[in-house]
Amino acid sequence: MIRVVFLGPPGAGKGTQAQRIAEKYNVPHISTGDILRAAVKEGTELGKLAKSYMDKGELVPDDVIIGIIRERLSQSDVKERGFILDGFPRTLAQAEALDKMLGELSMPLDRVIYLNVGDEEIVKRLLSRGRVDDTEEIIRNRLKVYREQTAPLIDYYSEKCLLAEVYGVGDIDEITKKIEDLLGLEG
Ligand code: ADP
Repeated sequence: MIRVVFLGPPGAGKGTQAQRIAEKYNVPHISTGDILRAAVKEGTELGKLAKSYMDKGELVPDDVIIGIIRERLSQSDVKERGFILDGFPRTLAQAEALDKMLGELSMPLDRVIYLNVGDEEIVKRLLSRGRVDDTEEIIRNRLKVYREQTAPLIDYYSEKCLLAEVYGVGDIDEITKKIEDLLGLEG
């Protein structure tokens, strides 16, 4: 049972690392980016709304995302196994809403893993990834949005003594190992 948030800039490797930890320890991996991309692909109302923001590198409105997470966190696998949140929270309002939800569910967070990667490396990675929202202009905007709206969460969780920082450049297996050590998981 672990309850963890992965924090960090776009392209830091949150998705890769979150998925590895989730698979290894059989914990649900909840990625808001994946949920939204699936909705876009299916052409649902949520997908149409989300696409208009994602295409510009903007954040989907807080109430929409918070509703999605509220529903997901109420499911039984989360209660039994915990969760790895990847891509949420991304704003202070989302972080406060998460605290409230977890308080109501009596499921406190164990750790926030902050994957730290510098801007230059990020732009390089995202340009080579080639997702539809990975053009240079949209990447720049995602980074700006990250700095303005998401980076303040580093202090937020640091003050709650939940933050653990991992340098996200280098061998992928070694980064996974560092995260496992921080979470107190055995290889
Ligand atoms: P990245 O790889 O850039 O970190 P994600 O795959 O996590 O991006 O998310 C892609 C896009 O989905 C974001 O740019 C944003 O538009 C939207 N999105 C994902 N999570 C959130 C969230 N918590 N709040 C608002 N928008 C979100």
